[in-house]
Amino acid sequence: MYRALFFGILAFDTALATAGYVQIIDAETGRALDSVKCTQTEYSRFIDLRKIVGVLDGFIKTEDNNCLRVELPLGELTFIDGSPFAQTPDGIRQLTLPVVKREGDWFAEETAIASLLNSYIGGSMVCQPQPRCIVVTEPKFDLFGLRWSADSRRTQVVIPAARLVQCQWEKTIDGGVIMRFPGASLDTTRWRPGPGKAGVKWIQTQCDKARAVVVIQPDSGVAFDRVDILSNPPRYIASFTKEHPANFSSSSRLQLSAKIDSAASSKLAADKERWALDVVVIDPGHGGKDPGAVGPTKLKEKDVVLDIGLRLVKALREKGVKVIMTRDDDTFIPLAERTRIANHSNGKLFVSLHCNASKNRKLAGMETFFLSPAKTERAMEVALLENEVIRFEESRDKYQDITEENFILLTMAQANFTRESQDLAASIQRKVPVKIGLRDLGVDQAGFYVLVGASMPAILVEMGFISNKTEEKKLKNKAYRQKIAENLCAIIVEFLKGG
Ligand SMILES: [Zn+2]
Repeated sequence: MYRALFFGILAFDTALATAGYVQIIDAETGRALDSVKCTQTEYSRFIDLRKIVGVLDGFIKTEDNNCLRVELPLGELTFIDGSPFAQTPDGIRQLTLPVVKREGDWFAEETAIASLLNSYIGGSMVCQPQPRCIVVTEPKFDLFGLRWSADSRRTQVVIPAARLVQCQWEKTIDGGVIMRFPGASLDTTRWRPGPGKAGVKWIQTQCDKARAVVVIQPDSGVAFDRVDILSNPPRYIASFTKEHPANFSSSSRLQLSAKIDSAASSKLAADKERWALDVVVIDPGHGGKDPGAVGPTKLKEKDVVLDIGLRLVKALREKGVKVIMTRDDDTFIPLAERTRIANHSNGKLFVSLHCNASKNRKLAGMETFFLSPAKTERAMEVALLENEVIRFEESRDKYQDITEENFILLTMAQANFTRESQDLAASIQRKVPVKIGLRDLGVDQAGFYVLVGASMPAILVEMGFISNKTEEKKLKNKAYRQKIAENLCAIIVEFLKGG
């Protein structure tokens, strides 16, 4: 068996020379939508896995040398180079032949991969032998499934959609939610409990010509918090939190939170103006007893990021965006508290502001991170540095190491927003460094505690190296800080309009 597989892979290698493309055809119109790289062995055809996932409304969550994790509308799949097994929300599934990575591309045997992917998408894909093509069918239902996940603090129910339709929701008296979708169709058969199956007591769905209805009753002690509507791919996310928002009492923040709650209810009334009512959470890193990184002439990260944060908030407010800050003065705020503030403010976006530091004083440039296990030593170093703040905190033991193994359970709150976080990080890196004259160090991923609990797209921006003499000097300059703030503001506004 293994020998046969081995020869299969050898044959695959030689076949790469004759790799070609196969067309993807839309079943309804018969038109070519796209094409996908493929390669042929004597008996099987392999197709470019990442490309086909993109065509099917999925995206690449993380990728390293031998592991590819993709997110499809109804679940997350993990593939290992050279392995015929895939990890799915329904357990391990076997493909007929191993997935192989060659010259940076991932290939999977087309028939087996089609049958696997079909379980996690709204429509379907079929590989046709004559004429050779892949036929893709659009979802039959507007809302084509339902999946949920839970951790110790919150539960999220995701309803993936073929297109965004109107959605009205209301809290039930016992902490649940009724979601109504007028005129929409709903596939009431496809439910996929994700990891951490607890958190939901029951779900009821109902669909007739007039509307689709989803009623979700969380476990006791968990209460409905909010619904997020995301567009790429279209989906609705209902969030439930363990502690009732009314019990949220972090001294001075209580008032702020109440103000935001009323903003949240007016959100229901004016769905069209949605982006303008959403709250952006700006999180200047460090503060108080934690200075963050300190530059060669003793410039402190906590002061720089607070000043840029205040400028950014002012710029956003001028554009009509609602903003709250996790701190607006020189106080110390524990990492977990930062995302708690964000979640309870019905935040739509969480932006943590930092300056980088390195023993290598020559290192310079700007980079933006989203939450995922670090793949490079340098990304790991950045996360270690930013996570180091927990030594100032009283209860340190609540922070577990973020590893590949416990990642899924630890970061469930953020998991449903990875794509938006990646997209926002990418647009920041595409535009801001060049505008402010910094080297673009790109988008990277690492395990930052401050992003772990955020139930919304969340990024961490490293606005240059404070340990670098030239960049420290720049960071002292008020006009330069203003320029960073204005450029970040422009990207955030763009992101809100697109969301
Ligand atoms: Zn920092």
